[in-house]
Amino acid sequence: MADCIFCFIASGDLEATVVAESDTAVAFRDQSPAAPVHVLVVPREHHESAAEMARVDAQGVADLFALVGEVARGEGVETTGYRVLTNVGADAGQEVAHLHLHVVGGGPLGALLSRPRG
Ligand code: 5GP
Ligand code: ZN
Repeated sequence: MADCIFCFIASGDLEATVVAESDTAVAFRDQSPAAPVHVLVVPREHHESAAEMARVDAQGVADLFALVGEVARGEGVETTGYRVLTNVGADAGQEVAHLHLHVVGGGPLGALLSRPRG
């Protein structure tokens, strides 16, 4: 997709610190890590969300999670624990419209959800 930074990273046209990859997905370090381990796992093909991708390429979604497992092993958090999350849309604060799974860990992560005030 034109002008999508994660399409550029997935194709190798934009630099990133790649930690793992497969035929269908790429894992690279987040440029602004929110935890000691913060890796983004993205499909090589452009999809906006996991739900949208599941409708057209369910195997691709499974492949993404297989790569999450490899990342967790490689980053040394498989046994200590980690969190996988994906933001979808404006209320979740999605900044990049290319599906990405955040894999975070390396220390206690606190509660799952922050509770907006008001
Ligand atoms: P979102 O808010 O869309 O769920 O997360 C986007 C994430 O992508 C953010 O954590 C941000 O730091 C990361 N990010 C944005 N642009 C780049 C980039 O060009 N390279 C890397 N490595 N990470 C990026
Ligand atoms: Zn894209």
